[in-house]
Amino acid sequence: MTHKAGRHFLQIPGPSAVPDRVLRAISAQVMDHRGPDFAAVGLQALEGMKTIFKTEQDVFIFPSSGTGAWEAALVNVLSEGDRVVMYETGHFATLWNKMAKRLGIEAEFIEGDWRGGADPEAIGQRLREDTNHEIKAVCVVHNETSTGSVSPIAEVRRAIDEAGHPALLMVDTISGLASVDFRFDEWGVDVAVSGSQKGLMLPPGLSFNAVSAKAMKISETGGMRRSYWDWQDMRGPNQTGYFPYTPGTNLLYGLNEAIAMLHDEGLPNVFARHQRHGQATRAAVRAWGLDVLCRQQGQESGVLTAVVVPEGHSADAFRATTMEHFDISLGNGLSKVADRVFRIGHLGDFNDAMLMGTLSGVEMGLKKAGIPHQKGGVDAAMQVLDETDVAALTAA
Ligand code: PLP
Repeated sequence: MTHKAGRHFLQIPGPSAVPDRVLRAISAQVMDHRGPDFAAVGLQALEGMKTIFKTEQDVFIFPSSGTGAWEAALVNVLSEGDRVVMYETGHFATLWNKMAKRLGIEAEFIEGDWRGGADPEAIGQRLREDTNHEIKAVCVVHNETSTGSVSPIAEVRRAIDEAGHPALLMVDTISGLASVDFRFDEWGVDVAVSGSQKGLMLPPGLSFNAVSAKAMKISETGGMRRSYWDWQDMRGPNQTGYFPYTPGTNLLYGLNEAIAMLHDEGLPNVFARHQRHGQATRAAVRAWGLDVLCRQQGQESGVLTAVVVPEGHSADAFRATTMEHFDISLGNGLSKVADRVFRIGHLGDFNDAMLMGTLSGVEMGLKKAGIPHQKGGVDAAMQVLDETDVAALTAA
């Protein structure tokens, strides 16, 4: 393999590049997870995650990828044959829907066009039709990583309440948390699912459930047969900072460091930084004359931008060119949009100069790969960065 000088640009929408501070924290020696010193690490992580989810209710941490926490969310509150409503925002909503069906849940899927977030109106309508209250939960993806669209979670909650329906609200915020505002308690979410490798700036390997008192109560007597994912098993040892089985010790060191970094910057500033980078990226894409996949104004993600390549061109060939010549990894198009889009990740520990490096690589890549486009995307992005400051966005 030929040597490539300089840092690789990992611009997929997660895993995101891990900051040096977090890498150093993770590199500390493994400790006895049942010994006296571990309690402080465990409690700091569990309490810290509550500040990130914005909840005073339970948070559980699993040593698994996000998919594990999806399963944990479903099996703790739903039984085989239960009905749920899910919304097709994109590839990840589709995978969660498939998982629910494999577990024997009757999972309805409200069709979406992959170009925006979940529609609260359509969800409310479906719940109003369910006069016998057979639907046990509404499941929505907060930040759909395959399309770059954000669902309006507070409005989904309102739609459930206005329908007078008791369904639980379950939200996948695997790629939203710590990048896009998320308020578990205020928005009345019942179960939230997240993962370590996106806005939390850690390597993959930890996943999370935030759980409302209502969902916790259901899990006490309900849900499916389960063992590894059982919230009740976690809850006891968690009270004193311990876990029922071996936790991801070193990732927890990293998590505590990442949470400290997020609070040092201030969550409103973190969200504004992501939003501003999303705006600048979309300005670049439009100046290139290309299409942003998300077309719902106000629902475009600050985490990533999915870009549609012109008909007759291959997004994957373009990504290969960008990788070969500029050492930049871009996200691929998933399932329905395979080879039709590429995704620019602008999440995590990321700044203006890194964004400009990324967008320059993309613009050079477009030229090298022969994708029809106009020049000036990088300039357009620079202008947005110049004109938009984080303080203005946090005040908005
Ligand atoms: N949900 C969303 C929105 C995701 O972005 C991902 C992964 O990218 C997943 C679920 C699945 O998580 P994991 O790959 O960590 O199992």
